[in-house]
Amino acid sequence: MHPQMSLLRDLQALDHYIDRLRRAVAELDSGEQLRATLERSRQRLEQVKARYQELHATATDQELRLQAFDERLRQTEADLYSGRIKNPRELQLLQEEIEQAKRMREEMDVEMLRIWEQMETMKHDIDEAERDLQHAERLYEAHVEDFRQRKAALESEIEYHLSERAELTTQIDPEVLARYEQLRQRLGGTAVAVVEQKACSVCHTLLTPYTLKRLQNEHTLITCESCGRLLYDPLLAQDETPSV
Ligand SMILES: [Zn+2]
Repeated sequence: MHPQMSLLRDLQALDHYIDRLRRAVAELDSGEQLRATLERSRQRLEQVKARYQELHATATDQELRLQAFDERLRQTEADLYSGRIKNPRELQLLQEEIEQAKRMREEMDVEMLRIWEQMETMKHDIDEAERDLQHAERLYEAHVEDFRQRKAALESEIEYHLSERAELTTQIDPEVLARYEQLRQRLGGTAVAVVEQKACSVCHTLLTPYTLKRLQNEHTLITCESCGRLLYDPLLAQDETPSV
């Protein structure tokens, strides 16, 4: 086994840890869903407000129409009592016209009341939509703050371990390191396998006596015949450790 396999095993453990931290950063919920909810609340408030404005304009129009109507009615009544019209048939028609106008006036009042009621209901809708929006804003802001803190904590941890890694790699032969990096990239992040009961710890293939013998006798990088990972045998490493 290559004398630097212990260092590679340490590097592998460190890389796995950094990979996990990076995955944790990627999996953090940035609050997209809450932001969408917030956006919907905002839109709803805008819609309710726009409807209220429309109704308000309708109410203003209706009031103007009522005023004009009342004015005409007053004039017609004044005409009726002015004594100007003498013809009984004409007078009767005018009276009928006034009666009809008064019935219409009542209907207009009912319509006006209906609009005011609708406006009251809509004011409550606006209040409710505003409360919803404030609630959604608070939730989103709290979430974003939490997300930022978690992300910053993970990132500073990653940075710390990356500097640890940089230090460790200075102790490793550049060619050995290049081989490690290459394998790690090709084999899904794991370049080193441990010999466990004469088998590869990653692909679980039983190692041949020939490979085991090479591990024991050669000081080179030996790979698993099945998955191609660099083999580290803890028993051999113990032999290498000088006794204290
Ligand atoms: Zn293997």
